[in-house]
Order: sequence, then C-alpha cells, then structure tokens
Amino acid sequence: MAYNSIIISSGHGQYVRGACGIIDEVNEARVLVERLATDLRFRGVDVKTFHDDVSYTQNENLNRIVDFHNGHIRQLDISVHFNAYEQVPHGMGVEVLYVTQGTLAGQVSAAIAAAGGLINRGAKKRTDLFFLNSTEAPAILLEVCFVDSEADCFAYRDYFDDISAAIADTLSGMSGEDIPDVPLPPCETTMTGKVSWFGGPGDMGVAPDEGLAFIYNVEQAPHLFLPYQPEDTTGLARRLNPFVHYIALRWNYDEMTKDEILKHVALVRALKTGVDLTAFPADWGPHGDTDRLADISPGLMHDLGIETDDEVEVIFPYRGN
Ligand SMILES: [Zn+2]
Repeated sequence: MAYNSIIISSGHGQYVRGACGIIDEVNEARVLVERLATDLRFRGVDVKTFHDDVSYTQNENLNRIVDFHNGHIRQLDISVHFNAYEQVPHGMGVEVLYVTQGTLAGQVSAAIAAAGGLINRGAKKRTDLFFLNSTEAPAILLEVCFVDSEADCFAYRDYFDDISAAIADTLSGMSGEDIPDVPLPPCETTMTGKVSWFGGPGDMGVAPDEGLAFIYNVEQAPHLFLPYQPEDTTGLARRLNPFVHYIALRWNYDEMTKDEILKHVALVRALKTGVDLTAFPADWGPHGDTDRLADISPGLMHDLGIETDDEVEVIFPYRGN
C-alpha cells in the first residue's frame, strides 16, 4: 500500500526523556523523523511532523502527541522510538509495534533491517501502548534500534541515510531510483546567433528514419508531432509538425537533464523583425561545425518573418517575463 498522507511524531518529549545509552532516544528520534519526512516528501507524500517541547509529565506527553495526530486528516500515524535493554556490544535489532497494521509493521521492520544491517526482530503486536490504541488512523510505532547496543548504534549511524530512504520507499510504494532528479533551478541564458530550420515531412536533409536526441516516442511530447507518420518515413524528425514552434539548441545535458529540458520553453526573438515567440525544445543541434546557434521549425521561421542565416536571440529556459 502506498500512503499519500502521513503524520510522524518523535516519541517522548523535550522534558519527558526516553532511553539514553550510546545515543539519546529523543534526540535521535527527532532527527530521524525530520529526515524521513523529507525523504517522503521527495516521493510525493504529504507529511506533517510533531515533537513535544511542552509537556512535563508522561500523561500530558502521550495525550499531546496523540491529539496532534488526531487533529489532522491522514492515512497513517507513525511514532518513532529507540529501544533499550542493557549495555551490550552485540546487535539487538529493529522491531515495529502495531495493533492492527501487522503486515505494514513487518514490511517496515524488514526494510530497516535490510538497509541498516540490523537484526530483524520483526512486527510485534502490542495492545498496551497509548499511541497505538488512541490514534484514530492506522498506526505503527518504530523501535529503530537499541540505544544501548554498540553494534546497533554504529550500524544506525553508518546507514542513517539508507534506513530513512528504505522506510520512505516502503511507505510511498516508490523506489528511490524512481525519484526524478531535482536539478538546481536553472538560470535564464541569453544567446545570439544565426538560425536555420529543420524537421517535418519536407526536411529532405534528414534521413527518413532519423530520430530526435531526447524525444523517443510521440507520447513524450505529442504537441510537437503530426498525428500520422509521413509516407515513406519512420523517424520522429520527419514527423515533427512544421507549423508548431519548436527549436533545437546545443543543450548541455550536464546542466539540465533531457527530461528537464522538455519541461521548459525558449523565447526566440528575430533581430531583423523584432518579433519574439516561444518555442518547445525538440532536438539537439545544430551541429557544432556550423556557425549557427539554433535550428527552428519552418513555421516558427515564417512567423518570426525571417530566413535561413538571419540572426536570433534565444533565451532559455524562458520564464515568461
Ligand atoms: Zn521510547
């Protein structure tokens, strides 16, 4: 099951301390809760977090935490704790407590164990815990590892990133590899140079089977293409709709991924006519041997009122004003 909205709280509170050994339960829980929230948000999950900085008694603390959870709409409640037993050098492991969510508890425990190299103690049904009994949404309580096991604490520290990502993967139903790259917001760049045209059924300079540099099928950018494959051709370059405003530039894929390029538009201004129009990225080009800056669609060239080798100014990515 993939959850869209989750509330995560750290166990205990600022003045109602939990276990303390090699690591401190409350401090670690707070750090992990925030990291997990970030990892989940990257996977598209709506997450709220809560840490109790106010309560002085355990009763007050438990009620305050549960009140926060129950005061919001969400699909899942999570409480993050660390376990304690006695000072030992060997591993003790992870367990996830539940009342109704046995399957999920087992999955999360196994994910944490695998990511952190921790012993998997697995899902444990506990009917005596206020958090699990009083939260109204499905709930699980993580006991990530033992604060007094040296092996656990070292593994937890070493694999902190992996543990958080593994929990986020399990809860979101996504793999970390599915997360789109989040490049830094690119700056607008202004370039000036000569222009030519390319693409469409009438571009005899392009082989009938020639493809495009970063569009591999029509579905990726249907607005760029003719509804049919032109006769005697098989490639996407000849299927471009010559009336659509598109552009090829020598994009630097290190600065912006191919997927990201497709999400932006360029502004093309004809220096001769002063007309400017936006254009969709469609291909990489023109070849570096030419002295041209850009190749554009026949339709764009017409609408700008210019011809081959006239000069254009190109702004990419263009943000609108
Ligand atoms: Zn605890």
